Amino acid sequence: MAHIVIMGAGIGGMPAAYEMREMLPQEHRITVVNRTDYFQFVPSNPWVAVGWRERAAVTLPIAPYLARKKIAFIAKAVTHIDAPGNKLVFADGETLDYDYLLIATGPKLAFDEVPGAGPFKSGGGGFSHSICHVDHAQEFFADYQEFLKNPGPLVIGAMPGASCFGPAYEFAFILDTDLRRRKLRNKVPMTFVTSEPYIGHLGLGGVGDSKSMLESELRGRDMKWITNAKTTRVEAGKMFVSQLDDLGNVYKEHELGFKLSMMLPAFKGVDAVAAVPNLCNPRGMVIIDEFQRSKAYRNIYSAGVCVAIPPVEVTPVPTGTPKTGYMIESMMTAICHNIADDLMGKPATAKGTWNAVCLADMGDTGAAFVALPQIPPRNVNWFKKGKWVHLAKIAYEKYFMRKLKKGTSEPIYEKYVMGMLGINRLHK
Ligand SMILES: Cc1cc2nc3c(=O)[nH]c(=O)nc-3n(C[C@H](O)[C@H](O)[C@H](O)COP(=O)(O)OP(=O)(O)OC[C@H]3O[C@@H](n4cnc5c(N)ncnc54)[C@H](O)[C@@H]3O)c2cc1C
Repeated sequence: MAHIVIMGAGIGGMPAAYEMREMLPQEHRITVVNRTDYFQFVPSNPWVAVGWRERAAVTLPIAPYLARKKIAFIAKAVTHIDAPGNKLVFADGETLDYDYLLIATGPKLAFDEVPGAGPFKSGGGGFSHSICHVDHAQEFFADYQEFLKNPGPLVIGAMPGASCFGPAYEFAFILDTDLRRRKLRNKVPMTFVTSEPYIGHLGLGGVGDSKSMLESELRGRDMKWITNAKTTRVEAGKMFVSQLDDLGNVYKEHELGFKLSMMLPAFKGVDAVAAVPNLCNPRGMVIIDEFQRSKAYRNIYSAGVCVAIPPVEVTPVPTGTPKTGYMIESMMTAICHNIADDLMGKPATAKGTWNAVCLADMGDTGAAFVALPQIPPRNVNWFKKGKWVHLAKIAYEKYFMRKLKKGTSEPIYEKYVMGMLGINRLHK
């Protein structure tokens, strides 16, 4: 009998727990460990931040749903991983032994890399907001309600080293839509500030026509933009940005005044993971082989935002490669197969496709992209805009939350529809 421990109950960890349960005989124990006792559907945070969603609609208590599937749950943060000793240590000194460990801890938000960045109350006392956590989104909404009484300039974007650009665009367009509905958009100059070398790069070297489509969208919505933006400091109501040229030299210095700002931070690995000797790269992201297995510890696997992926290309201001939901689930599926095989004494063979599929809401419309594979040149490379994406994003939220409540990992219709689009979780 083996004990499989999944560290992190997020977009990746929760479906992985269900899939592992479906795949492994009941004699094997599965335990999920998470910092909080609730799951949050991170992709809905932009809606929470403008009051289009309540917190209760995008979070759920983890314990009862896992219990129904006979999966154990511990709501505590892991403070130390004793990898040679195969055990996790919690802040209260208690420990948990494992035979296999799946690390799915998502990102540590690197607000500390830009002085003054991060949400004031929920993110360490900074002056720019974030939507990476539901607490951050709620803090934005509280300030947004005050902002609406006396509106002014908005600065939205992504910090140097960021890898998750889609939600920054998404949030800028959602705010634009919300302000237009309130007939306040004329009082709000908006600037999009991004470390990408050009609009629509998305950390992927562009996808299809993303550059011209997103530029056109920003122009059509009266938003200015600054690319190659190295944000160096944030103060109350002021952002300091060095704009670099293509050779990485400073081309222009900007001092942007704002009433409200949301800047997505760069990601690092969480402390307990980053501290394990030989497990991670210098940013604390887990180094894995093609089977999602640690190169240093053969019984540790990892998937999701916490794995190390090299940037698609070198950019004047550092940017990272995004890890999107479906890609994360494909990594998890590969891990479940590989652990099941290892338990039967067979070699690992499953490799996730890592296909980037993303739906970005724009409030009243939306943009979808598919990049297969993620690194160019690609077999499938398209970027499309339409109201259907807005509706598809709502459906994705409802579908994912339902999937977690029902305790299934990949219902048959998901397999069938994605399969028709040529999108599969595993390499055949
Ligand atoms: C604002 C935003 C919007 C996004 N929108 C989309 C989208 O629309 N579509 C899409 O495909 N992708 C989207 N993404 C990208 C990606 O899907 C998400 O970031 C996703 O949440 C990543 O999943 P994960 O499982 O790797 O990490 P997470 O979902 O962040 O889960 C990590 C879990 O690990 C836990 N944890 C961390 N440290 C510890 C510890 N020491 N001990 C115990 N538990 C710990 C955390 O509490 C958390 O529950 C978005 C990302 C952001 C930031």
